[in-house]
Amino acid sequence: MKIIAGNWKMNKTKEDAKAFFEEYKALVKQTDNKVIVCAPFTVVKTVAKQKKKNDINVIAGAQNVHPAKNGAFTGEISVDMLKSMDCGAVIIGHSERRTMFLETDEFINEKVKATIDAGMIAIFCIGETLEEREHNQTFEVLMTQINKGLNGVTNSENLYVAYEPVWAIGTGKVATTEQIQETHAFIKELVTKQFGVDVPVLYGGSANEQNCSEIFAIQGVDGALIGGASLVASKFAAMANYQA
Ligand code: PEP
Repeated sequence: MKIIAGNWKMNKTKEDAKAFFEEYKALVKQTDNKVIVCAPFTVVKTVAKQKKKNDINVIAGAQNVHPAKNGAFTGEISVDMLKSMDCGAVIIGHSERRTMFLETDEFINEKVKATIDAGMIAIFCIGETLEEREHNQTFEVLMTQINKGLNGVTNSENLYVAYEPVWAIGTGKVATTEQIQETHAFIKELVTKQFGVDVPVLYGGSANEQNCSEIFAIQGVDGALIGGASLVASKFAAMANYQA
C-alpha cells in the first residue's frame, strides 16, 4: 500500500476539477493505495464528492489551515471550516509557504496540532534547500524542522511526513535513490523515537508516472507528494494505480 497525495497548488477551477475526475475515473483501478488530492479551498468539496458521485476512492485535502478555532484572521480558514467540506487531510509547512508566506516552524507546529486534534491527516512537509545540502546541513535542517514542527505532538495516528528537498520541487530534478533512502531512514528514526511507532514518510520532488515505481521501491518510502504530475488525470491515475 502506498500513499499517493496530489498537491494541486493554486490550480483548477470547479469546472477543471470536475473534468479531471471524469477522465481520472475511467483510468483509475481498484488498489489498496490511499489516494489524497489536496486542492484549492474552492474545490475541496468537489473532490470530497467524488466518492459518492463517481465511486472514486479519494480523500479530499487542503493545502493550508489556520490553527485558531475562529476569529479575526482575514483570509484564513479553520479546521472546522475544512471539516465541514468533508476535508480529511491538510498539507502543512510546504516549502512554498515557508519561503513565500514566511511560515515559521512554530506556526507550522500549531497547525499540525490543530489538524491532528481535529482528526484530519496532517501531511507535514520538511526539506533542505540546495545551499543547505551543499553545505552538508541536510540532516541538521531536517532534525530542526522535525523537532520544532512536531514539538508536543503526541498522537501520530494521522501524521504523515513528506520529505521534499526544496531543490527537487517543480524542477524536474529528483533526489537520488541513495539521498532518498538515507533521509527517509533518518526521518523515520527521529519520529519513531518520538512516537514509538512507524510514521509514513512520503517523498516529494518531481515525482511522476515514469519515475514513481523506482521511488516507491526505495526502502522507507511510503508514498509520494506530487505537484505537477497530479494536475494531469492520466499521470495521476498511473501513479494511483501503482502496485509493487
Ligand atoms: C510539491 O509541490 O509538493 C511537489 C512535490 O511538486 P512537484 O511534484 O511538481 O515537484
